[in-house]
Amino acid sequence: MAIYGYRAWRLCEYGNFLLALAIPVRWHKTMRAQCLELSSLLDNEKPIPLGPAPHYHCRCGIYAYNIDYTDDIYTAMRALIASGRHKTLSDGIYDFLGYYLDSDVVWGYVWLWGRIIEHEWGYRAQYARMLTLFLPYETPHYKEINAELRDGYECEVIGYSLPHIKSALLNEFR
Ligand SMILES: [Zn+2]
Repeated sequence: MAIYGYRAWRLCEYGNFLLALAIPVRWHKTMRAQCLELSSLLDNEKPIPLGPAPHYHCRCGIYAYNIDYTDDIYTAMRALIASGRHKTLSDGIYDFLGYYLDSDVVWGYVWLWGRIIEHEWGYRAQYARMLTLFLPYETPHYKEINAELRDGYECEVIGYSLPHIKSALLNEFR
């Protein structure tokens, strides 16, 4: 059974695809996790992972936060910050909003399936696919990029006002 999660990407230079934030891997319509830590695990004498990624004693997998689904980015960001999950990315609210809520960062929901490891803050999954993306109107070439992402990932792309959402979140959480 598929479940959904919330996560972020960085828009590539030409705006026609998304890159993962932690490791700048290009996202395709459907993603399958690969373990990049096998060699370091063998060096560290930890248990050897068996089967497909993600592995339990590992950091591999496709990451997503367990935030309730909404088509309103304010509600999603509010839930993320109120729960403290943003602290996995940044220490302070100013740093977080300055760096992770910007015109080249795209937040959204993904479907997750296959092997899924559940954590307190979210999931590490074997497969993922776009469900909904939130794109700031302030993104250069907004209309074209909205269409590129919608067609390329076959998902819904919802526009929002970046300064409006940012100032509303700052007012609430500073
Ligand atoms: Zn692994």
